[in-house]
Amino acid sequence: MDYKALDKEYIVNVYNRLDAVIDHGKGAVLYDVNGKEYIDLSAGIAVNIFGVCDDVWKNAVISQLNTLSHISNVFYTEPQIILAEKLCKKTGMKKVFFSNSGAEANECAIKAARKYSHDKYGNGRYTIITLKNSFHGRTMATLTACGQDSLHEDFGPFLDGFVYADANDFDSVVKLAEENSVCAIMMEVVQGEGGVKPLDPMFVHQVSEYAKAHDILVIIDEVQSGNGRTGALYAYMNYGIHPDIVSTAKAIGGGLPMGATLFADTTQYALTDHTHGSTFGGNPICAAGAITIIDRLDDAFLTEVKEKGLYIKKELESCKNVEYVSGMGLMIGVKLKKDLMDVVNECIDKGVLVLTANGLLRLLPPLNIPMDVLKKGIAIIKEVIEA
Ligand SMILES: *Cc1c(COP(=O)(O)O)cnc(C)c1O
Repeated sequence: MDYKALDKEYIVNVYNRLDAVIDHGKGAVLYDVNGKEYIDLSAGIAVNIFGVCDDVWKNAVISQLNTLSHISNVFYTEPQIILAEKLCKKTGMKKVFFSNSGAEANECAIKAARKYSHDKYGNGRYTIITLKNSFHGRTMATLTACGQDSLHEDFGPFLDGFVYADANDFDSVVKLAEENSVCAIMMEVVQGEGGVKPLDPMFVHQVSEYAKAHDILVIIDEVQSGNGRTGALYAYMNYGIHPDIVSTAKAIGGGLPMGATLFADTTQYALTDHTHGSTFGGNPICAAGAITIIDRLDDAFLTEVKEKGLYIKKELESCKNVEYVSGMGLMIGVKLKKDLMDVVNECIDKGVLVLTANGLLRLLPPLNIPMDVLKKGIAIIKEVIEA
C-alpha cells in the first residue's frame, strides 16, 4: 500500500509528516509497517509518558470499556470524580473542568479568567497578556493567544483582548498591564513549541507577585510541560508559584484525548451553571486511564525523570555540532550547528524518533523509558549529530 500517496490524497496536508508509517509497539519501542524498529524519543509529543500500550493504563481502559463507554455530563460518573479528587489533592487546586485537548483546556481557562473579571469588575477588563514565542493551541481564541506572528498571518480577524509581552522581560509585562485593562497573564513556564525554553525563575516570581497585587490571574499552560515531564508533577512547581488556573492535556490521558483545567481557591467559582460544558470531557474511558497515569507520578518516579534528563543533557552538551542544550527534566531542546532536518531524518533512518521545536531538535521520551533503551537512542543521536 502506498501510504504516503494515499495520505497526501485523502488527508488535509497540514502535517508535513516524517518518514515512518508507525504500526505498533510497546513502551518506548515502536515498529513500522515493514517491521523496522524505532526507539521513541517523541512519545506522541509528550503524550505517551508510559510509552505506548502501557499495561496498567490499558487494563484500566479495557475494564472501563467493558463497563460504561460514554454517558453525558448531565449525569455523574465515578472515574471523572476520582480523577478530579486526585488532581486537586496532589496540586492543592480546588476544582477541575475536563475537556478533550490542550486547546480546549486553554479555552476554558480564558473563558474563566474573563468571567472572573467580569463578575468582579464589570465590562471591559478582559485583556490577557501572553508571551512572545508562546504556543497555546489552534482554536481561534488559543491561536490568538499564541505569541507567534507566523501563526497570525492567515486567519484574521482575531479575538480582541490579547497582548504579547517579551518572555523574561518583567518591564514589558508591567507596561502592557498599565496600558490595557488586564484580567490575566497566561504563560508556559517551559515554552515547548517556542523552542523548549524554561522561563527565568526571577521573571516568573516577579510576574506572579505583580499579578497577585493587581488581581490579575496567573494562568499556567501545562499542556506539554505538565504531568511529570519536567521532573515535577507540574512545571510551575519547580518555580514555587501558586497559579490561579492551570491547564493541562497531552500526557494526562495516557494516549487518549483529555484536557483538564484546574482552578485554585481564587477562581474555583468563576464558571457557574451552564457557562461552560463539553460532550466528551471527562469521558469514563479517558478518565479511567488518566487515573492510572496520575497515580504513578510520585516522588521516586519524578526523581528518575530528573536523573534521565541530566543524563541526556550531559551526553549531548559535550557533542561536536551542538551549540547548546535547553529544557528541564525530560523536555529537552538541542540547538545544532548543522541542518536540523538532515539530523531528524537521519535519526529516523537509523531508528530513533525525534521531534523539532522552533529550530531546535526536541526530545520528549516516555518518562519511564528504560535506561538501556535511552542510552541506545542517545548514542545513535550523538553519532548522527557528530557525523
Ligand atoms: C500541544 C499544546 C497545546 C495544544 O494542545 P492540543 O491538544 O493540540 O489542542 C497547547 N499548549 C501547549 C503548551 C501545547 O504544547
